[in-house]
Amino acid sequence: MIESPLLKHYSGYINGQWVNADTGETLPVHNPANGQLLANVPKMGAAETTRAIEAAAATLRKPASLDQRREWLEAIAQALTDHREEIGRILTSEHGKPLKEGQGEADYAAGFFSYCAKHVHELAPRQLEERPRDCSWTVHYRPAGVVGLVTPWNFPIGMIAKKLSAALAADCPSVIKPSSKTPLTMIALFTLLDEVVKLPAGKVNLVMGSSGPIGDTLLEHPDVQVLSFTGSTEVGRELIRKAAPQVKKLTLELGGNAPFMVFDDADLDAAADNLIANKFRGGGQTCVCANRILVHESVADAFGAKVTERVNRLKVGDGMASDTDIGPLIDRNGYHKVRRHVADAVDKGARIIAGKLPDPIETDWGGFFPPTVLQGATPDMACWTEETFGPLVPLVTFRSDEEALEMANQTEFGLASYLFTADEKRAEKVIAGLQFAHVGWNTGTGPAPEAPFGGMKQSGYGREGGIEGLFEFIEPQTVPRGA
Ligand code: NAP
Repeated sequence: MIESPLLKHYSGYINGQWVNADTGETLPVHNPANGQLLANVPKMGAAETTRAIEAAAATLRKPASLDQRREWLEAIAQALTDHREEIGRILTSEHGKPLKEGQGEADYAAGFFSYCAKHVHELAPRQLEERPRDCSWTVHYRPAGVVGLVTPWNFPIGMIAKKLSAALAADCPSVIKPSSKTPLTMIALFTLLDEVVKLPAGKVNLVMGSSGPIGDTLLEHPDVQVLSFTGSTEVGRELIRKAAPQVKKLTLELGGNAPFMVFDDADLDAAADNLIANKFRGGGQTCVCANRILVHESVADAFGAKVTERVNRLKVGDGMASDTDIGPLIDRNGYHKVRRHVADAVDKGARIIAGKLPDPIETDWGGFFPPTVLQGATPDMACWTEETFGPLVPLVTFRSDEEALEMANQTEFGLASYLFTADEKRAEKVIAGLQFAHVGWNTGTGPAPEAPFGGMKQSGYGREGGIEGLFEFIEPQTVPRGA
C-alpha cells in the first residue's frame, strides 16, 4: 500500500466529508511498473453521485466574489507547487511515467490555476459601449451551474487542473470523477483542497468507481448543467447520445492522431529532438503525441537515422528510477494495442529500424514496451488509422507539399499536428490547410495554460486554457435597461 501525508483517506469526498461507497465495495489500484497494490478505493455509483450533485447545487445559493475566487485559485496553485514532489511520487506510482514528468505535471497543473487567478477579473460584468434600442446594456457572466468533470488516466493532475481552474473561476461547483486507473493523485489534490485551501463544503466533490452509472447520473440529473469530459472518442460519442434528452452542454476533449511533418528544408536535428520529446512523453500515451510521422522522401533515410540514434539511447524502466526515460504502459490492453500495431505494420511490409516486436505479457502490469521505429509505414496500416498510444514511431514518406497535407488530414481526428520547415510561405500555406486545432511549427510542444486548446472534427469541442477556456462554464446573461 502507498503511504503519503496526502493520502490519509482512500475515499471519495462529498459535501466536505471523506466518504466510502454505500455498498462498502472497493476497487484496487495497482502500480503498472510492478503490480504492487497501492490502495483500494471506493466503488461508488449513482446514489453517491446524486448526493454529490445535491451538495454542489446547494452551494449555488452562496455565490463567491471574484476576489474570493482569485484567492482560492492562487491558493491551489501554491499548494500544488509546495507539494509537487509528493504529488509527482503518487502520480508516478499509479501511472508509471518518469518521476520528473510526474512532478512537471504538478507544475503544469499549477499553471492553470495561476492563469485563471490572473484573468478571473475578465468575468466581471461588461457594459456595452453602444446603446441599442435606447437602453444601457450589461452582460453578466453567470456560473452555468453544477458541472461534472470526468478525466482520463494519462494526465492524472493535468487534466483536472484545466477543468477545475475554469470551473472555480466561473464559480461553478463540481462533481469530479477520475479514471479508475489513477484515482490516487485526485485524492491527493482533494486533501489539499480540504486541508490547505479549505474550500467550502459542496464546492468540489469527488466520486469514483463505476463509470457508467456515475456518467449516466451526471447526464440525467437536472441540476448538472455542463459535463466536461476528457477521454476516448468512443466514450465521447456515447455521452453525446445520452446528453440529448436534456440538451445538456458537453465539453469534449477526445482522441487524436497527430501528424508530424518533416519537409525537405527542415533542420533535421531539431525535428528529431522535438519528435523524441513529443512522442515519448508519458511513454507515448498522450493525445497530442505524434502518431504519424510524415517525412519528405529525399530526407527519409537521414531523418530515420537521426531518430534511430536518439531512440536507441532511451532507457525504459520503473518511473521511480532517476535514469528512466519511458515507464511501463498503463496496462496489458495498452501494451497489446501497440504490439498489434507493430505486428500489423511488419506484416504489411514495414521494417523495424529501432526496437522490436516484444513478447506478449500475461499480467496486467509490467508492460515495458521498447521504443520502436518503423521505416516504410503506409496509410493502410493500423498505426496510421488508429491512435497507437504507445512508444511507436512509424515513418511514412511523401513527395510534395500537397500530398503531405492531404495525408496529414486523412483522419477523423483534428487535435494536434506539427510541421518542420524553414520556409515561411510553405508553413503559412500548410498551416492554413491543416484541419487541426493545435499546430506546432518547428516545435513539438503541446498545450500551455495561457493558450486555448481543444479539438476539431471528432477530437471534440470546447476549449481549455487561455481566455477561451475561462468562459467554458459561463452563461452570459444580457440585461438591457430602459430609462
Ligand atoms: P476513456 O476510457 O474514454 O475514459 C476517460 C474517463 O471516462 C475515465 O474517467 C473513465 O472512467 C470514464 N468513462 C468511461 N466510460 C464512461 C461512461 N460510459 N460514462 C462516463 N464516463 C466514462 O479514456 P482513457 O483511456 O482514460 O484516456 C485515453 C483517451 O483520452 C485517449 O483517446 C486520449 O487521446 C484521450 N485524451 C484526450 C485529451 C484531449 O485533450 N483531447 C487529453 C488526454 C487524453 P474509468 O476509468 O473508471 O472507466
